Amino acid sequence: MILELTAEQEAFRQSVEQFAREVVAPRAASIDETGAFPGDVMRAAAGRGLLGVTIPASWGGGGRDYVSYALAIEAIARASATVAVALSVTNSLVAELIAHAGRAPQKERWLRTLASGEAIGAFALSEADAGTDAANQQTKALRTTDGYRITGQKVWVANAEAASVAIVFAATRPGLRAQGVTAFLVPMNAPGIRRTARADSLGVRGLGCMDLEFDVQVGDDQVLGSVDQGFRLAMWALEGGRVAIAAQALGIGQAALDEAIAHAKHRETFGRPIASYEAIQWMLADMATELDAARMLTLKAAAAKDQQEKSALESSMAKLAASEAAHKAADKAMQILASAGYRRGSVVERLFRDVRATEIYQGTSEAQRMIIASQVLAGG
Ligand SMILES: Cc1cc2nc3c(=O)[nH]c(=O)nc-3n(C[C@H](O)[C@H](O)[C@H](O)COP(=O)(O)OP(=O)(O)OC[C@H]3O[C@@H](n4cnc5c(N)ncnc54)[C@H](O)[C@@H]3O)c2cc1C
Repeated sequence: MILELTAEQEAFRQSVEQFAREVVAPRAASIDETGAFPGDVMRAAAGRGLLGVTIPASWGGGGRDYVSYALAIEAIARASATVAVALSVTNSLVAELIAHAGRAPQKERWLRTLASGEAIGAFALSEADAGTDAANQQTKALRTTDGYRITGQKVWVANAEAASVAIVFAATRPGLRAQGVTAFLVPMNAPGIRRTARADSLGVRGLGCMDLEFDVQVGDDQVLGSVDQGFRLAMWALEGGRVAIAAQALGIGQAALDEAIAHAKHRETFGRPIASYEAIQWMLADMATELDAARMLTLKAAAAKDQQEKSALESSMAKLAASEAAHKAADKAMQILASAGYRRGSVVERLFRDVRATEIYQGTSEAQRMIIASQVLAGG
């Protein structure tokens, strides 16, 4: 595998890093503090080509490869984990799925507005009893004379506070689990959608996570892909989404390492900077090594997404390795900063809270291990 970036990928990475430093980083603390969805930052990001990154230019997107996209998400997450994951939901879980499975009128209606930032997307799969067991869909979409009536509740729908469109998964053949789920494109202003609760979360605050209740009539033209094929589409979207979450975790972990290095050089005890103590050096060495190993897996998964039809194994390995490396990095950064990190409002305190969700959303670490194990057992 070639790990060198092309000139175009490197130039894009640098331009996103600059945007992250100048526009996103100054807003990170207030997004966390207020928990308000950063609509203005999302619009600015769209102006820099960070929505619809991999969507073909003919549909208004950036037409970039997945490696470029992963580099961009890492750079943004280093500044704000919330902005990175909000971007990744619209990009990977919504726009890419419409580009992959949508019919021309559906692409016409949504892709340009998603890529321009006029529309934000949401992905409504999880329910109270359908998280890891996502096939256990209790939301139903039953046939009517002119389409389907969707009834049920979804939980933890990121971006829902600001979204114009949601991809909603529902059982068209209740009881058949993965074989009877269909994906629907539902405008969030459709009559019969209620935003019932707003998540007050530990980290990635400002992600606009809401619980949603549906009693909505949709037309046949709102079915995304084929009837009863929705679960397969959800898993397809999550292959890309997990590469983005791996990149998001790396950005958070790298920010933790940056903070730890700066503090270790500056803070003195017993008349010497703590960076001169082996105990601190070894923590920094482990953080840097584990993050870089996970970065290799993430770039490999991004390249696989570009080059292969299926990349579930690579994306699960990347998400598992990067989220766990980043969690450890945030934990070690907290140890190195000690009371300076533990103080409410410190950057490391925010990173420590933000990183935890990367091991939960888009499939827990246990779910990633299940996918990896089933693939290695099938191949062995
Ligand atoms: C901040 C945030 C944002 C989110 N955004 C979205 C979103 O936009 N759209 C959406 O659809 N969902 C979203 N989710 C939901 C998320 O995908 C689920 O929380 C996740 O899939 C886990 O499901 P659960 O919370 O129901 O845990 P459960 O499935 O109840 O799992 C509980 C524990 O049991 C473990 N476990 C479960 N089954 C097994 C098994 N067979 N073997 C071993 N261990 C097992 C899990 O790994 C976990 O440790 C979000 C969640 C969070 C926290």
